[in-house]
Amino acid sequence: MRKVLVLEDEPNIRSFVVINLKRAGYETIEAGDGEEALEQIRKNPDTKVVLLDIMLPGEIDGFEVCRRIRAGNSQIGIIMLTARTQEMDKVTGLMTGADDYVTKPFSPAELTARVDALYRRAGGENVRDSDEISQPPFLLNTRNRTLEKNGQRIKLTQVEYSIVKLFMDNPGKALSREEILDAVWGKDYIGELKIVDVNIRRLRIKLEDDPQNPSYITTVWGYGYKWGF
Ligand code: CA
Repeated sequence: MRKVLVLEDEPNIRSFVVINLKRAGYETIEAGDGEEALEQIRKNPDTKVVLLDIMLPGEIDGFEVCRRIRAGNSQIGIIMLTARTQEMDKVTGLMTGADDYVTKPFSPAELTARVDALYRRAGGENVRDSDEISQPPFLLNTRNRTLEKNGQRIKLTQVEYSIVKLFMDNPGKALSREEILDAVWGKDYIGELKIVDVNIRRLRIKLEDDPQNPSYITTVWGYGYKWGF
């Protein structure tokens, strides 16, 4: 069964989300505060995608839940549910390891499209057999969806992995931000281009020797990015 955790303290919003996910074929696990969400994740280790509200009652907010889930699991897909006035929270949420965000109020179609996209990336569906792409110092294993740099494993989120895979499939080619968005988030993604830049910034911190002077992911001004050496 395709399991999704829904963390939302407002019962009306939570049941709206749950009903629509069930209708789309997902099994839902519900939580009303952060502690309960972490407990549910422990009990349901096969959960592939989580939706996290930010403002919550109790000790920990949605960002902290995101950090704690991510600390133990780089594979799970994380979508933050944000209020319209929380513009800055979007960026902060992504920097703490979320893959995506949905702004309230959202339509059922928008929500399930986002969950579907992450679910596919989180390996919830069959991952086709393939092998390794070697571009020293990087080695990408497309079977295990892992990346090594000089033999050292680099922990990537599913979104980060998809971006690196896209780059390594197109070495030396300038990719526009729109192309990256389409390839990684899907053509039906309704979010903003900025999400590309936020993820690139995070990737540079993980991959570059000097993130301030990137040599692997270079900026193509006014256009996008290039995996270049
Ligand atoms: Ca709330």
